[in-house]
Amino acid sequence: MRACPTLTVYGRHYCAPPRTLISLAFTSLHRHNSAPFLNLSFFTAFRSPFSRMEQFQTGTGSTGNKAMVENLKRFGVISSKKVAEVMETLDRGLFVPVGSSAYADTPLPIGYNATISAPHMHATCLELLEDKLQPGMRALDVGSGTGYLTGCFALMVGAEGRVVGVDHIPELVYMSIKNVEKSVAGSLLQKGSLSLHVGDGRKGWKEFAPYDAIHVGAAASEVPQALLDQLKPGGRMVIPVGTYFQELKVIDKSEDGSIKARTETSVRYVPLTSRDEQTGGF
Ligand code: SAH
Repeated sequence: MRACPTLTVYGRHYCAPPRTLISLAFTSLHRHNSAPFLNLSFFTAFRSPFSRMEQFQTGTGSTGNKAMVENLKRFGVISSKKVAEVMETLDRGLFVPVGSSAYADTPLPIGYNATISAPHMHATCLELLEDKLQPGMRALDVGSGTGYLTGCFALMVGAEGRVVGVDHIPELVYMSIKNVEKSVAGSLLQKGSLSLHVGDGRKGWKEFAPYDAIHVGAAASEVPQALLDQLKPGGRMVIPVGTYFQELKVIDKSEDGSIKARTETSVRYVPLTSRDEQTGGF
């Protein structure tokens, strides 16, 4: 008999089939409840909610990346031409650990108790923020991890825009810089319209504030005031909020500074927390 696989996720030990472990550990479990291939809750996710898309995974390198984007379009996750173009241009394979299923619609572990979000979550956030990622605009990516989504933002706003990624794990920031350098977004990093920094993202990144778009890639127990302050009037923030039960919030700041928030969907992200909490002090 095979031993039960176990995984430690934020100090808890789980013993379950690998698919369940993936579901427990990884960033986001499902998107629109209406999407047939994702219509599984956290509690019933003994099979990966992504399995149907995983079946469609084909090819490697740019072929695999193109097929991934085609599937996201086919399932209605991507409807914007620009988002499709950007995700097609930036090869996700350059941002994931060697040997992992770069183009399957699943989050993947990247070390330090962090994950790269599933492609459908990246696509969702890009679509939600598209209007605030127009050429020349400014964006902040909190919890930038691998740098993949930060790189997508940079391609959206172009050389005249300004994109800042912040993560509190120095090793991840170093890795994200290396990833971006290998990719088509490398020139934007070189030109200085994209930068990746080590810092506590709950404080935002004042240097280039205010931002037209703020994305938070980890779940906050409540929306950090510093991020609201650094959002430009007319700007939009996309942030998962909650602890065990989490909702992806879309927060719009109107020109008069008032805030409107709505819930896009239920999600499961790793927490926006302190470095010690995340790594267990190591
Ligand atoms: N969006 C990224 C990573 C998502 S995982 C990607 O898809 O590649 C969430 C990330 O948030 C992790 O890299 C983690 O280190 C980071 N994080 C968590 N709390 C943070 C904080 N307080 N400040 C900065 N980064 C944080």
